[in-house]
Amino acid sequence: MINFVDVNKWYGDYQALADINANVKRGEVLVVCGPSGSGKSTLIRTINRLEPIQKGWIEVNGEDITRKGANVDEQRSHIGFVFQQFNLFPHLSVLDNVTLAPVMLKRATKSQAHDQALALLEKVGLAHKAQSYPSQLSGGQQQRVAIARALAMNPPVMLFDEPTSALDPEMVGEVLQVMKALAREGMTMVCVTHEMGFAREVADTVWFMDAGRIVETGTPEDFFNQPKSPRAQKFLAEIR
Ligand code: ATP
Ligand code: MG
Repeated sequence: MINFVDVNKWYGDYQALADINANVKRGEVLVVCGPSGSGKSTLIRTINRLEPIQKGWIEVNGEDITRKGANVDEQRSHIGFVFQQFNLFPHLSVLDNVTLAPVMLKRATKSQAHDQALALLEKVGLAHKAQSYPSQLSGGQQQRVAIARALAMNPPVMLFDEPTSALDPEMVGEVLQVMKALAREGMTMVCVTHEMGFAREVADTVWFMDAGRIVETGTPEDFFNQPKSPRAQKFLAEIR
């Protein structure tokens, strides 16, 4: 579903991604982990073209999304993205945050979008907050709205870049619960996260990155129990 082919990226002289060759299958839950600065955010951001690449290409659903002339807005409408910061529109109600994109992009009528938004808010446990404004919600609630908003476009794949790392500890669980439910429904998910419990429980595959490279891939069992590379062994020893 997502295929990285010889992907290389530089920020100026600094090589942030080196020779990335890997793929994510439909329905797969991938956790990307690795030390700070290893290129996890850069990698996930290349998938929805927030970061250009200088070499190689990326296919999503068989389409080379990095080709010249590709329609970035169209591509992004098929990829849900949840950031560390919730980035809700502060002047819009929770409901309007969730209906905005489908209505603006004419994917649904107002009333269809409204019904779907309520169903999504129900799913993330926030139907009762539909008329509230983001500032009236806790961080965990805002992040769950952000997930509902991303889902409102019915994307076949969801990207998460450290969705819980800006949250107070007591709110991490509620967001992970929503992500776990999505995974159980078969959503294709790429998750950059330090939540190793989530990785163990939910991931099909783990990629470990270091210095812009994917240095290890495997099942969570293999990665956590028998990390092969010294760098991964050190990383796991430090976070345990
Ligand atoms: P963290 O766990 O801290 O979020 P990360 O693995 O997500 O780290 P990236 O944000 O992808 O790491 O950064 C990879 C490298 O690229 C880092 O060395 C970073 O300093 C560098 N980098 C990231 N963004 C830019 C930028 N806009 N300009 C220059 N260098 C950048
Ligand atoms: Mg990052």
